Amino acid sequence: MSPGHLNISEIFHSIQGESSFAGWPCAFIRLAGCCHGCIGCDTAYAEHDAKILETDDIIRQAVAFRAPCIEVTGGEPLLQSGVYPLMKQLCDLGHTVLLETGGFLSVKGVDPRVHKIIDIKAPSSGVCDQNNTENIQLALEAEPARRQQFEFKMVLGSRSDYEWAKSLLHEHRLTDSFTIMMGVMFGRLEPKELAGWILSDQLKVRMQLQLHKYIWPPDMRGV
Ligand code: SF4
Repeated sequence: MSPGHLNISEIFHSIQGESSFAGWPCAFIRLAGCCHGCIGCDTAYAEHDAKILETDDIIRQAVAFRAPCIEVTGGEPLLQSGVYPLMKQLCDLGHTVLLETGGFLSVKGVDPRVHKIIDIKAPSSGVCDQNNTENIQLALEAEPARRQQFEFKMVLGSRSDYEWAKSLLHEHRLTDSFTIMMGVMFGRLEPKELAGWILSDQLKVRMQLQLHKYIWPPDMRGV
């Protein structure tokens, strides 16, 4: 890939569906490619369906939606080196920039102004052994003023996933300093079950539903 270009799956305008920004109109830049194969992946099409675009063109298309935030997502966006200057340029232009990453690669090189939404994959995903623990360390070592730029997302498919997540949160005391978004694998765990567990354990996490899947058909692209 030549410098200044990125392999893009789609650029679209939607409602942010799964983070502390859920509910906001948002411009999404979905980068193509991911090799992790999580069970339940709902963006597998981002693997192959793509086009090469110049960074300036990508920014122009995303900014045209005039949304209050711009999210860089995937696939796995951190696989492409051009994503780092893309996010920096968007920050320099004064935009609120979100990054949604699968959590397998370190976010060390990401501009500190970017709000990082980092997955911690649970056992039901089939890939939890690939979680990059450096991201938890980076969050814990961040200056207090930068800690709000880190947020972790856990999508659970069973009670044993929940127990695993709870023990990881306690081990690193993550709920003391960070927003933890906890949700269900669509169709595998009932939201009311997870809600009951969170309340019964008095767990300091934010439960979330994938908002966009309730507004539009769950398998619809570009939402
Ligand atoms: S990291 Fe994200 S895009 Fe990649 S396989 Fe997993 S869920 Fe799908």
